[in-house]
Amino acid sequence: MGATLLPGSATNPRWGLPPWTVDFHSEQEALPEELDFAVVGGGFTGLAAAAWLRHSEPRKRVALFERSRIGAGSSGRTGGMALPETAAGSLPGLGDVLVGYSNILRDLQVHCDLTLPGAWEIGRQGVLPDSPIAWNDCGTLGVTREVPGGTIDPGKMLSGLGRAASKRGALIFENAPVENLRLGEFPILTVRGKSVRARSVLLATNAESLELSGLARRAHPKLTMAVATEPLSFEQLSLLGLAQRKPFYTIDLPYLWGRVFHENRVIFGCGLVHVEDWRELLALNVAEGQAAELLANLERRVRDLHPALRDVRLSHRWGGPILIAENWQPVFRRHAEHHNVVVLGAYSGHGVALSVYLGAWAADAMLGKRDLPQWDNAANAAN
Ligand SMILES: Cc1cc2nc3c(=O)[nH]c(=O)nc-3n(C[C@H](O)[C@H](O)[C@H](O)COP(=O)(O)OP(=O)(O)OC[C@H]3O[C@@H](n4cnc5c(N)ncnc54)[C@H](O)[C@@H]3O)c2cc1C
Repeated sequence: MGATLLPGSATNPRWGLPPWTVDFHSEQEALPEELDFAVVGGGFTGLAAAAWLRHSEPRKRVALFERSRIGAGSSGRTGGMALPETAAGSLPGLGDVLVGYSNILRDLQVHCDLTLPGAWEIGRQGVLPDSPIAWNDCGTLGVTREVPGGTIDPGKMLSGLGRAASKRGALIFENAPVENLRLGEFPILTVRGKSVRARSVLLATNAESLELSGLARRAHPKLTMAVATEPLSFEQLSLLGLAQRKPFYTIDLPYLWGRVFHENRVIFGCGLVHVEDWRELLALNVAEGQAAELLANLERRVRDLHPALRDVRLSHRWGGPILIAENWQPVFRRHAEHHNVVVLGAYSGHGVALSVYLGAWAADAMLGKRDLPQWDNAANAAN
């Protein structure tokens, strides 16, 4: 089993840039030969798991391998809405995601501007009489319901989780793609051409390296798009109905989500580019082809939403990968070929809070402190 990566894909300027930065980067260290725990993927899931492993068991040898830079995948290009449950709703034994997520961030001392003022479901029907939002988008869009939720600064969450893991002694290797995973008595990873033996492995590669995670042909990688406006005045925010800074997403189609970011920039997102093979994602360019068309369409919709946005300048345009698995349920299971390899991801665009919450759960499971949930039937087992 192995994942072949595209040459020259270490950083991906083709996906555009979001309005935050990741200011944590790892120090170069010699690759270990043996580990207790290897984590593959330096997004929210992998970083939270690595930090939680060392938080719980400071003596265990933990290393995280990231193909590119921390946050190179979905986590660095997310919208940053912290949402409850999963994209498929609540699942048996899931628990309270937002409470668990907040507690993990507190315990790891990760400061990422988390606020949980609630989130708005918006739609064209069933709009509340006192809806603060009245936007023009295939009908009149308004608030239909308030649910728990809020926002984070994704750059700060990535940096904070990276520091939390590193400070607790997890080794973090960037530009260190796991090229192969051999599943014998112990899992053996190939990194930079060298073998690294681990007692237990977490595969948190999300929409990429699907052969490694056993999710090729079982889950669907996509690129999804977002834009950020230039800073708006408080008057503009009030006119839009966003003075309370609650994030929002439609519950009918056409889909639209958004949130207010620092300096009163408003981020909006929608649209999916479908690919047959995850490697195609890495080659997509948001300035060309279908991704560019989706961005242009999103820009038109944003300007038409409300007169306050008619002449607004967009300062950032970007896209990022998501992975959608069966029934829109996250994948959280042991690898069919090895009990000590756990696969976690495919949050279907719903992974900001869930990735950290389940990343810590995966760490507890690898430490033998907790069982994995039973969300799959046998037919869904990896490989
Ligand atoms: C535009 C956009 C908006 C979104 N908005 C929201 C939102 O508002 N709320 C919400 O809840 N969710 C949202 N999401 C989804 C959310 O961001 C993701 O679910 C979450 O970030 C997934 O984190 P992850 O760590 O599992 O995956 P990723 O962040 O994708 O991390 C996987 C990592 O694995 C690395 N990797 C891959 N292959 C290898 C290999 N072979 N070896 C080593 N490393 C490898 C990749 O480089 C990558 O860094 C959004 C996503 C996008 C793209």
